[in-house]
This record gives sequence, C-alpha cells and structure tokens, in this order.
Amino acid sequence: MNSQFDQLIQGMDTSKISPVGKHSDDVMEQVNANGTQREVPQSPQQDTMPFVSSPLFETRAFKELVRQDSISRNKSYASNSVNIGGYDIAHNCMKTTLFRMLGFQPTNYANSWLPLGFRAALGTATHNYIQDLSLGKIFTECEVCLKVPSKRISMRLDALINDETLVEIKSCSYTDYKKILTSNKPRLGDLHQAIFYRWLLQNHLEEMKKQEPTRGGIRPTLNDYSNIKYIQMIYICHELISAESDTMRDAIKYATSIRKLAKKESGISDFWFIAPLAISTQSFDIKSHENYLVNKLEELLKYLELKQLPPDDHPYVDNTKCFFCQFKDQCNAGKK
Ligand code: SF4
Repeated sequence: MNSQFDQLIQGMDTSKISPVGKHSDDVMEQVNANGTQREVPQSPQQDTMPFVSSPLFETRAFKELVRQDSISRNKSYASNSVNIGGYDIAHNCMKTTLFRMLGFQPTNYANSWLPLGFRAALGTATHNYIQDLSLGKIFTECEVCLKVPSKRISMRLDALINDETLVEIKSCSYTDYKKILTSNKPRLGDLHQAIFYRWLLQNHLEEMKKQEPTRGGIRPTLNDYSNIKYIQMIYICHELISAESDTMRDAIKYATSIRKLAKKESGISDFWFIAPLAISTQSFDIKSHENYLVNKLEELLKYLELKQLPPDDHPYVDNTKCFFCQFKDQCNAGKK
C-alpha cells in the first residue's frame, strides 16, 4: 500500500500545493486507507480555469443589502406596530415605545449596528429548532399569543410546560453567556419579560382567550395558569458577532475559554452552548418585580392617552438604551 501511495506522489511538486490542493491530500489518504484503487483527482491548472465574468458575493455589497433589509423591516414594524410588545415592557426605554406608538418617524430607519439583523436571524432559527423538536414531547404549548386589547398589549410567549413552567428561549453573546454561567442568574430584562407574561396569564386570561391569534401563534389552551411555579430561561450561545474582542484570534481564544467553562458547568460536552436555568417563582420577591412592570404599563398607557412624551427624568426613561434607539436624533434625554 505504502509503495502505491509513494508512486502516486512521486513527481508531484508538493511545494506548489495550494490550500485547495492540500484538500486533495484527504482523498489520497482515503485511497491509502481503503486499499482500493481509485483515480486521484487532478488539481486543475491555473490556466485552464474558466474566466469568471459573473458577479461574485462581496461582503461590502452584502452589507448594503443588510442595511436596506433593516430599513424595510423597521419601516414595516413602525407602521404595523400599534401595540405594546414584550420588549417594550421588559427591556425598552419607555420613551422609545411612546415615540413609536405616537407615530413619530425616525430620521433614519436603518439599524445603527447592522449585524443586529444577523443576530436576529440566528436567534429566530434557534427558537424554531428548539420549539419544533420539543413541542408535544417537552413543551405543551408554543408561541402562545397574549393579546389584551383593553391594555393595548400584544405579545407572544415561547413555551409552557403544563401549568407549572413558563419557558423563554434567549440567544446571547459569549460575553453574556459567561456572566450567566458564572452567576447562575438570568439577565434581568429576560426575567422581567417572563414575569410579565406570567402576570398577564394570571390576570387577563379571559380577554386573551377571546382574541384571534396572530399567524403562527395559538390562544392559551388552559383555563387556569395560577399554578406557574417555575420560569425556565433557555440560553443559547451561538455567535461570536457580538463578542467584545478586537481581532478574530482574540474572539476565538475568548470563545474557547467560555466553551471550557460551559462544558465544566453543564457536564454535557457537545451541548455546552445551551444553558437552561430554572428559577422558582418562590425563591425571590416576584411581587416587587411585577409591580415595577405593571406600573410601567400603566405609565405607558397614561402617556398614550395624553398623546405626550414623558419628561426626560421620568423613571422609565432609560438612556442606557440610546445606542440602538432610532429616535436618538429627536431625543434630548439621549444626548445627556
Ligand atoms: S434616545 Fe435614549 S432616552 Fe431617548 S428615547 Fe431613545 S433610548 Fe430613550
């Protein structure tokens, strides 16, 4: 066998093997290992390559497509979004929501950080995959529409497990994943989202059950959710896009260190990138968080009724969120 292999490589000028040519080494190894005689593919010579006249994928041009896509998505969201969503209550600065719901137009609809579109696409794919595999086997309800027109609310929760566990799936950066693993705590905004969904199910179920679900969603199926005892946050770490590293080499080094940490924590070496955290609703003062969120909802409704923006020093105006805000050009609070 070895002599056959030696014959094959005799006469080859290995110094000229390109990265593509090197790949053909794999084929030769396979021939060697199988002991069967197969023709070794010849690398095409440079001068026999066809002249490429078609346009090629080019990152700069693609970036422009991403920019245009973000403009059309944000425009469509702005014109169709007449309700308060889960992010508005749990994560967003209240003034951003009011800008949008009172009909202000951003001066620029493009995302200020274009990779955001990629992150969202990866997050959606992850959600779908977990939900598709788990529905009917672990999850009992998925994509549950929480519509409460009397409060101008329209949101969707990711999943429920019977009447005991409310599930939210979140994708996150390596940096956040490290914080979550080392603290064993969810991000506060994510926890707030789940707490608010639980509050809605326990306080507005009757109204929600009468609403038509939005496409791809369902109405809540049970008649009582007062027994929800656990909130489970499923964190998925799947991208280096937002890792806080200056170079790809640093990013990979950083990702490798987190992978080691996650493997140790989870004990499941090949699924180290999933961290499901279960939080008992009796293990902390859930009522105080609920009050904070319900109060934010009432404040939002008050300013919507008044058709006014809140003062810049309002407690729910959050100028730590200005970087991604589409209304920062029009907002003085964001300039402080
Ligand atoms: S610019 Fe900042 S403070 Fe103003 S609405 Fe946006 S996030 Fe809120």
